[in-house]
Amino acid sequence: MPLVAPVFNSIVSNFQIRDYKWRNPQTSNNPQPLFAEQLTWLKDPTISSAINELEQLQIASEDIRYLNNMGIMLPFCSGKDALDFIKKSNVRISFEKTSSKNIHAQYDYSKNLIMLNDMYKNNQDFPVILALAEAILHECGHAKDNDGDSSIQEELGNLGMNAAAHRAFLKKYGDIFSESDALIIKDGVSIYSTLFFDPDPEKKELVRRIRQKYGYLPVGDMLHPPSQIAFRIKDKKSI
Ligand SMILES: [Zn+2]
Repeated sequence: MPLVAPVFNSIVSNFQIRDYKWRNPQTSNNPQPLFAEQLTWLKDPTISSAINELEQLQIASEDIRYLNNMGIMLPFCSGKDALDFIKKSNVRISFEKTSSKNIHAQYDYSKNLIMLNDMYKNNQDFPVILALAEAILHECGHAKDNDGDSSIQEELGNLGMNAAAHRAFLKKYGDIFSESDALIIKDGVSIYSTLFFDPDPEKKELVRRIRQKYGYLPVGDMLHPPSQIAFRIKDKKSI
């Protein structure tokens, strides 16, 4: 059996379980002990490896400033921030069937669950592990605002955070992604680091891509007041 990353033990010892019954009263009928059930996801070797990489992720402060100057605020400024949030909020993570192979991950608000596309279950390919760490980071951003909705501005924050995280992995490990043909890399994490840090001051390709994927969402929401770029994404006539 593959080794479970050392971070597993530290998470187990720090995990708060008090709120779990409140969050999901149905579990009182479940014969399995609450504690064991709650931590099952951490025993998955792929998730455990991704969490381990996430814990060490440092986002460059100049990248954070660059995104702030575009009107984009990041929900977390390091992987450790996101992991602390996961522990504090009892977020769980598991591989599940998603509705399409292009949906790499999703946050289910009603279950407080980050779902990863089960096509990556048992995958130990290192670039994919890093991409899954980025996907977990993105979905943590959705979990943080504690509502079931998203907006263009909210996606900008999460995707911008992904872009900066991806650059941090490139800096740490070199370009280990270019050889991979996994969809989560080719059509996911690699694209956004290029688009957000595009030298084009108007970021036209970024605007087009986010409009195509998320243009149907409201431009902003209470916790994510829309920036100029969010309005340009929403306004089809802007480019
Ligand atoms: Zn999202």
